[in-house]
Parts: sequence; C-alpha cells; structure tokens
Amino acid sequence: MIDPFIYTGLPARVIFGPGKRRELPAEVERLGASRALVISTPEQRGDAEMAAGLLGNRAAGIHAGAVMHTPMETVHEARRVAAELSADCYVTVGGGTAIGLGKAIALDSEMPVLALPTTYAGSEMTTIQGFSEGGVKTTKLDSRMLPKTVIYDPELTLTLPPSYSGPSGMNAIAHAVEALYGEHANPITSLIAEEGIRALGVGLPKVCAAPDDLAGRTYALYGSWLCGIALGAGGMGLHHKLCHVVGGSFDLAHAPTHTVILPHAMAYNAPAAEAAMARVCRALGAESAPQAVYDLIGAIGAPLALKDIGMPEDGLNRATDLAVQNPYYNPRDVTRDGIRQLLDDAFHGRRPAA
Ligand code: NAD
Repeated sequence: MIDPFIYTGLPARVIFGPGKRRELPAEVERLGASRALVISTPEQRGDAEMAAGLLGNRAAGIHAGAVMHTPMETVHEARRVAAELSADCYVTVGGGTAIGLGKAIALDSEMPVLALPTTYAGSEMTTIQGFSEGGVKTTKLDSRMLPKTVIYDPELTLTLPPSYSGPSGMNAIAHAVEALYGEHANPITSLIAEEGIRALGVGLPKVCAAPDDLAGRTYALYGSWLCGIALGAGGMGLHHKLCHVVGGSFDLAHAPTHTVILPHAMAYNAPAAEAAMARVCRALGAESAPQAVYDLIGAIGAPLALKDIGMPEDGLNRATDLAVQNPYYNPRDVTRDGIRQLLDDAFHGRRPAA
C-alpha cells in the first residue's frame, strides 16, 4: 500500500567524483559568469586559493570571511567585496559555515552561487538556513538559497580530520533518519535517505580508520549528498530540535552534538516510526536502529556522551524546558518526562535499549 504523497524535487546541478573540482572553470562559464568571488572560512583560505588557482582569470578574488552562525554583517561584507571586485558569481568552498554564507548571499542576489562542499553537513542541498543579527538567531526557508551547481570532489575532504569526519558523517545520517519520519517523508525521499545511510555506514569506518582512503571518502561524500537531499525534501523532527536547543544554548559544537543525541532521539521515536527504523536497520545491516547507530558512533571513535562535549549536567533541566517549547513536527508526542530521560541518557552516553 502506498499512501498519497507530494514530492518536491529541488533543482541543482551536481557534478560528483574524485578530481571533479577541475570542472570548476567550465561550470562557472556554464552559469554565464566570468568573475567569481571565492568564499571560505579563514581556516580554509588554502582551499579558496586552490579554487581561485583553478579558475585562473575567471577568479575575481578571495573572501575568507565566513564564520559560524552566519552573522548578517558577514553577508553584507561579502556582497560589498563582490561589488568592489566586479564579481558576477560566488564560489563557496568549505563545510556548512562557508556554504551557509553562500546561501545567505543567494537569498537576495541575482548572482549565481556554486558550492564545493568539504564536509558531510549537506547544507548545500537544503533550502533552510540560520542567520544571526544583533545576537538573535533566525531561520529562513527559501529555495533561492540553493546553490545553482554543486561539485562534490571527495579529494577535497581528505584533509578533514577523522575527529571531525566521524561526527560530520553522523550529522548527515541524522538528516536521513529524520527525513524517514519527517512531515514530508515519501517513498522517494525514503529511498534516498536509506541509500545515504547505507553509503555512510560503509564509508565512515573506512574514513576514520584511514583518512586518506579515497574510496571511503567517496562513499561518505556520496552518502552525505543523499542525506542532504533527504533532509531538504523530507523534513526534520525531535532530533534536530534537540540539537538546535542543546547546541545553541550551551554553545556545543554542531556535528558532535548531532552525533551524541541521534541514537537517543531514535530510541524515543522508534515506537512511533517503525517503518523508518526498519529502513535504518536494512541500511546498516542491523536489528535495532538506535543500537546500530550508537555502535557505529563507537566504532568510528566519535563522542557518545554530552558530558564529553562540554554540556554541563546542571543545564539538563533548562535544555528540557526549551526542547518542549514550540516542538517541531515529530511522529511521537514530545513529553517533558520523556525528553528529560532522553537527555539524561545522552548526557551519560548510555547504550539505548533495543
Ligand atoms: P564547518 O563548516 O563549521 O567546518 C568546521 C571546521 O572545519 C571549520 O573550521 C572549517 O574551515 C574546517 N573544515 C571544513 N572542511 C575541511 C576540510 N576538508 N579540511 C580541513 N578543514 C576543514 O562545519 P560543518 O559541520 O560542515 O557545518 C556546520 C554548520 O553548518 C553549522 O552552523 C550548521 O548549523 C550548518 N548546517 C546547516 C544545514 C542546513 O541545512 N542549513 C545543514 C547542516 C549544517
């Protein structure tokens, strides 16, 4: 039995494969542009220089000004630099932080944005983006933010250390898991999500054991792309809400927060999301989806407990209060007692029950 559904495919041209960054000049030209401003974080200026080198005389300059949480000042500054250099397109190189700046620029600009992701965050496939202005964070949903072209070159991820590669890949798996039971889940997004989890289940252990294993990197990046599509089209639930609350209120790192919370959010939702959990089991070759995810985290040496990533124990009650306010769509009712227990399990890093 297939229930009626709506599937909205998001437009993006994707070029995938080792070495494909060399297609960058041709892809810029294909967008009708000839002067690209290359954007990165300060830490990844080297990657921005690499992209500018590939672009040759199609590079207008480099702006290594992307920072966490996309402050609006950085958006205005990037646009000012682009105008000063007479740029006619943007190339963003990096993880969710650099990609986020490109998305913010695209929201209110005629100039096309092309993305070269270097982590597994998957933000380049979603129409959602957080901004900060005057200390206040807001989230916008708008399809204009999607990059016109995305080049996934697994060689660009070779420098991502295993200590961040593992959590970043788990961040991607979290996108796919929630897309499986999200508000807009449908047979197409579920196919994509399941394949994304499978690919990351193969790739992440290889990447974390041998960071220069290009085959593992390729699987992981392919999986992260799929998980990004799934999130963008399928939606999110309790897990993302908890990560936004806990990460935002206690200033915890993005990908490690997703890593720790995921098995516990899954255990909470499992009774109300049996078909989704069955797909996760099939993707990971396991019998219990929350346990399989917990064991994968352990196998790749990623963090398992909130107490190990900077969460104060006396913050658990406040986190619970915040998490039950304005809950996101979720397959299971969100109760205060249930969330307090979930966060306690995540704080101590307990293995979820089957
Ligand atoms: P990030 O982009 O902040 O990168 C983490 C650090 O790793 C940075 O210093 C970066 O320069 C460095 N780095 C990235 N790639 C590297 C590489 N290949 N080699 C060496 N260093 C590298 O981290 P992230 O996890 O990719 O993104 C997190 C941000 O993205 C958060 O702000 C999150 O909210 C956002 N995000 C948004 C969405 C969405 O759909 N809107 C989805 C996922 C994440």
